[in-house]
Order: sequence, then structure tokens, then C-alpha cells
Amino acid sequence: METKDNVSFVNSIIDDAIIANASDIHIEPFEKILRIRLRINGSLIEYKNLDIEMHSKIITRIKIMSGLDIAEKRLPQDGRITYKFENTNIDLRISIINTIYGQKCVIRILNPEHFKIGMKNLGISEQEISMVEEFTKFENGLVLICGPTGSGKTTTLYTMLEEENTIDKNIITIENPVEYNIFGINQIQINEKIGMRFDNTLKFVLRQDPSVIMIGEIRDTETAKLSMRASITGHKVYSTIHTDDAYQSIIRLMDMGVEDYMIRASVKVIIAQRLVKKLCPHCKQKVKVTPEQMEIFKSQGLNPTEIYAPVGCDKCRNGYDNRLAVMQILKVDDELRNLIKKDANLQSLKEFGNKNQVSGLFKKAMIQVQNGNTSFEQAMRLYNEN
Ligand SMILES: [Zn+2]
Repeated sequence: METKDNVSFVNSIIDDAIIANASDIHIEPFEKILRIRLRINGSLIEYKNLDIEMHSKIITRIKIMSGLDIAEKRLPQDGRITYKFENTNIDLRISIINTIYGQKCVIRILNPEHFKIGMKNLGISEQEISMVEEFTKFENGLVLICGPTGSGKTTTLYTMLEEENTIDKNIITIENPVEYNIFGINQIQINEKIGMRFDNTLKFVLRQDPSVIMIGEIRDTETAKLSMRASITGHKVYSTIHTDDAYQSIIRLMDMGVEDYMIRASVKVIIAQRLVKKLCPHCKQKVKVTPEQMEIFKSQGLNPTEIYAPVGCDKCRNGYDNRLAVMQILKVDDELRNLIKKDANLQSLKEFGNKNQVSGLFKKAMIQVQNGNTSFEQAMRLYNEN
């Protein structure tokens, strides 16, 4: 069953995906074909369509590589592979689930080389980078990063931890999953099957004399309260929360039942983040701003006459190459602290932001359009959230 051909064929799929900078490989059975797609720069593209006969051979090979049960074909399974590519060990996360046509497999590629590129390559301005660096110098308090899945939160979080990573600090993370290994940082993988959750693991971590703690995600009241208490009692805490913007994070914490005084005392900064596609510099084309587009630019206090549109060339995909992060950075100062009360609402927080020139995500994206880095269409994806 395990032939040399299967081994080299599966390796060639993984190699191609790594070379193409894909983040995921999707192996999907249908009635007559086996479709393989790659996620590159956030979009799925077709890689190969194979005869459905190949299906079981490929899945079996992947299961062997990841130590999964070959005989189990009905229940979902998760596994991992440390894959050697050139001189790098690349972590692959395997997920297999049964569909009506058989087992679908998704391989997530966690390439450490990608992470090293870091924030400077995400197109964040020098001013924003220095603000983010400043937050890493706080002695204590909570730094929150928010955004949906795929918004680049983890890259920002790891970049900040790298900045903190000096010999005089004890840095401990609690993650699910541990996405990249960083030398010098104590990374803990939670495991709900054996009862290791974010909240109870954090209690034990606090007995390990940490200076900096990173908690993968705040998604329950207990974790929220413990994180905040830790950040008030002399620790620096980083975490993420699954909300659309910085203001909503404050409301979400209160909805979770966190006391307003705890939020006032602990939260130092909230960063909301999204990714937009970056225009390919080789083929982007100058276009005149239409009157309809101008209305929207003006609503954001912007006034460009020409912007760039995607074209497409042999160096890119549909006119885009790579991605850019847009960030909303909300520093919690005395004035904002006064607004964080039991009766606080989203509107009053947003008004505070507008008055204090805190640019929203949509405006940040429109500035990138004005600067010729992304297209009007990409920025409009954030419009409805504004
Ligand atoms: Zn191009």
C-alpha cells in the first residue's frame, strides 16, 4: 500500500506548496475527481485535479506521516508532521474530516521563515512600528490585539514577544496551538482533553514567576478576569480577543462580566488589525478617482485624484502580490478610562476615538489606497465594518 511513488508524490505536493508560499493545502474528494487547492495570500487557488483513485493512497500516506489511525475513516482526526524542507523544519498541522465523498484533508503550513519577515513587511508605517515598540516597554498592564481569524494577529503578537525576549525576563505563553517556536520563550500548549485550559493553566503559570505572559485568546470570563488580575499585579500580559474593532473589545469584556474598574486598571492598549492584498508593483495601473469613489474618500478626510488598480502579470496573481496590515491603535488614556464605565456604549467610545484622531480600520485602508499600495476594492471590504 505504501509505495515509493506515494511517498514522493505527497512530498512533491508539500514542496510545491511551500515554494508557492501557501498557508494551507486542501485535499478534497468529489464524485469523480480529487481536487487539490492551495491557499496563497489568503485566496484558494486550484493546484491539481486528480483521478479519485488517488484519494485513498494520498490520505493514507499523510496519515502515516502524521501518526494518525489509518483504519479510522469516519471520525475527524488531527495530527502534525515536522517536515524537513531544505534546511528548515516546517511544522505541518493535519486535519482530516469525513465528507459525503470521503475524507477531506487540510494541511496548515507553519513556515518559520514567514514569521521572521515580521511586521515591517506587513506594510505598517514607521510611526506605527515605533508605537508598537513603545508598548513592549511597559512594565505591566494588558496589551490586547483584536480581529477575526486570518487578520495577522498572531504575527503582531509574536513580533512583540520577540521584542520582549531578553535574558532578564521570564516569558511564558499559553497557546492553542503553539504556532511558532521562539528560542528563549517558555511556550505551553493547552490541551482540553486532559483538562489544561487557558484559565487553569494561567493559575499555574503565575506561580512560575513570569515577567511577561502571553495568553493565546481571551474567550471566557475566567480567563479574562485572571489575565487582568495578573496584569494589575505587576505582570505584562499580551492576549487576543475575537472582536471586529478596538471599541468592541471593551464592550465584549464588560459583556463577559469583567468589572469596569478591572478594565480601567489593566488595559493599556488595544490594537485592531486586518489584512488587505497588496498591489503588484510591476503591473499596477494608475486610474482616475471616480466621483462615487471621491465621495467615499472625502467622508474619510482624504482627497486623492489618482489611485492604482490591479492588472495582472507573470510576477503576480490577478494584480496582487503579498498582503498589508491595517491597524487601529487605541491607547487607553485617562480620558478614555473615564468612559469605561458600566453604562459605556459603543457609540460613546467611537465618538471619543473620532475626537482624538484614532483612525478606524477603513480609513487606514483608504490611506493605503491613496498611497498606491492597495486597491479601492480591497479597502471597500472593510467599509461595511466601519
Ligand atoms: Zn503583476
